[in-house]
Formats: sequence, structure tokens, C-alpha cells
Amino acid sequence: MQKDSFQKFKKLLKNSQNIAIVTHWSPDGDAMGSSLALYLFLFKLNKKVSVIVPNAYPDFLHWLPGNKQVINFQANEKKAEKILMSADAIFTLDFNSYKRLEKLGNILEKTEAPKVLIDHHQQPDDYPTLYFHDVDACSTCELIFDFIVGLGEKKLIDKKIAACLYTGLMTDTGSFRYPSVTHKTHLILSELLKTGIVPSDIHSAVYDNYSLDRLKLLGFALNEKLKMVPGCPVAYFTLTEKELSTFNYQKGDIEGLVNYPFSIKGIKVCALFNESEGYVKISFRSKGKIDMNLFARKYFSGGGHINAAGGKSTLSLKDTESKFVELVKELF
Ligand code: 5GP
Ligand code: MN
Repeated sequence: MQKDSFQKFKKLLKNSQNIAIVTHWSPDGDAMGSSLALYLFLFKLNKKVSVIVPNAYPDFLHWLPGNKQVINFQANEKKAEKILMSADAIFTLDFNSYKRLEKLGNILEKTEAPKVLIDHHQQPDDYPTLYFHDVDACSTCELIFDFIVGLGEKKLIDKKIAACLYTGLMTDTGSFRYPSVTHKTHLILSELLKTGIVPSDIHSAVYDNYSLDRLKLLGFALNEKLKMVPGCPVAYFTLTEKELSTFNYQKGDIEGLVNYPFSIKGIKVCALFNESEGYVKISFRSKGKIDMNLFARKYFSGGGHINAAGGKSTLSLKDTESKFVELVKELF
């Protein structure tokens, strides 16, 4: 855990009128929930605030309050660069290395504004000026809640901010079932519910908004593409770009797929390999103490959490699969 004092955060906020918020490549529910909650909060403090994402995010997150204000770097490079170069402070949320921003990382490297990291991933880089980092937090949204409360501004958490925070807490904990969930998670949820948000509506907005193609892709993956590593409690999927396009693949369509094999008795590690924009995107999940952050860092140019990490490979899908099947044995 590495947390700077609220005195320092207050001073920075006092001296910053133009604030930019940046989150990681392929933003998920926690990335967007935390970014938009912070955006709405800082807006209430009368700041000029921009949220910049490196690329697009799934449709099932577009209902989030503040969504319309989000700037997609891929579609608006010049505008995003201008905002970042003139920002007084830049908040970097739900990631801890510029590598997670792809090309947007090169712009961040050039900026001089102080950086505030708010994040719960393992082993942060040293780019930040101020840290609000805790690997024991179940989500970056939990940290945003703590951040607002620590600034003495809990009263500003309204229904919109609560909806954003609830979304990140829900999506990063597999709907409140992962080991990262503590009594504190539930206390925060209880506070959020007091604002009038309706949890069942948020669950529906995120999880009951998929296409028929997505469900059929899930069926295809489970039926045809699920493999076990002989002699190891490991299950994984591979998906080619062609297979994905057969099911009219849209961003977010394979989110959550990697977890399905855990419902098989005894499985300790799951993985998903899919071709994506010229490389192989990898997701790793584990149970207990098996450290996928280290594994992803060591072999697949990635990182993340102990039980959930990701990475990439520039080998072919087949060679990536062979490399994984060989190396995964060392985890047992
Ligand atoms: P997912 O498998 O859902 O894409 O990611 C699982 C976790 O690993 C997330 O917390 C995500 O931020 C992190 N992660 C995913 N891909 C990468 C990567 O390429 N590099 C690093 N450092 N972390 C990643
Ligand atoms: Mn997160």
C-alpha cells in the first residue's frame, strides 16, 4: 500500500483548475466507473475536467452518467493531446504503467503536469507524483470512494456518482464473489445504496444488454474451443480473429468468458487467448495463491493482479498456446 496524505491531494486540487483523467486500454467497468465517478465529483468542485480513454469501450458501459463527455484518443488524437499538454493535473486510474495506454502513453510521457495514480494493480511504475495505491482494494472504484471520503466530501456522492462506483465494484468482483470482497466492500455498497441507486437496474444495464451473436459465441467457445492441459488443473480457450468475426464480434463480447471453466470441479487456472489487432491478447485467472501477475509479467509482457492478469504475445496463436501449455506447469 502506498498512499500520500490527503493534505497533499488537497493542495494539488487547490492548485489545479484543468484536470484530465486517463484510464487503461480497452476500458472495463472499473476503469469507466472510476473515471466517470471522479469526473462527476471534480466537476462538482467546479473544476474543468476531461476523461480520456485510449480506445473504445463496450456498449454495455455507455449508459454510465457522463459517458457523452468521454474523449476517445483513437478518434480525437489532436484534441486529447491538447487537453493533456495543458492540464494542471492528470489522474491515472485503474492501471499503473504507461504501457497499458499503448500510443496514448507516448503523450503522457511528454506531459509535465503532476500525475496522481489511483489503482489496485500489483507493482506500480514510478511515473506518479502522488499515489493512492492499494492492492487489497477490490476495485479502483473502492479507492475513489475512499478518496472522496478522505477529502471530507462524502456529501457530494450523489446518485450518479454512486451508479458509477457501484458498476466498478460489481464488475471487478464478479458481482461481489471474488476473494477481494470484504466487509468494507459491503459497507461502501450500503453507503452507495443510500443515494437511491437501484442495484438490479445496474446489473441489468451491464449484464442483460448483449446480442444474440454474443451468446452464440459463448456457446461455440464452450462447446468447441475449451481445452484442458493434460496433468494440470488448467483450462483455456483459443479464438482466432476469423472465429470471432463469424459471430460478428463486438468489443466486450468475450469479457467474462475466461472464468467459465472454474465451474469445473478442481480447476485452478483459466486462460483465454484471442487474436486481436495483430497480436494475441491474453487473459489469465487463478484460484488461491497461484500468482498470475508474476506469470504474465515474466512470460507474456503483461501484469495485473494475483488472481486476474493479462498480457500479449506477438507469436502466432498456435505458438502462444504451445508456450503457455509448456510454462503453466511450473505454477504447480
Ligand atoms: P483482463 O483479462 O480482464 O483483460 O485483465 C485482467 C487484469 O489484468 C486487469 O486488471 C487488467 O488491468 C490487467 N491486464 C490485462 N492486460 C494487461 C496487460 O497487457 N498488461 C498489464 N500490465 N496488465 C494487464
Ligand atoms: Mn480494476
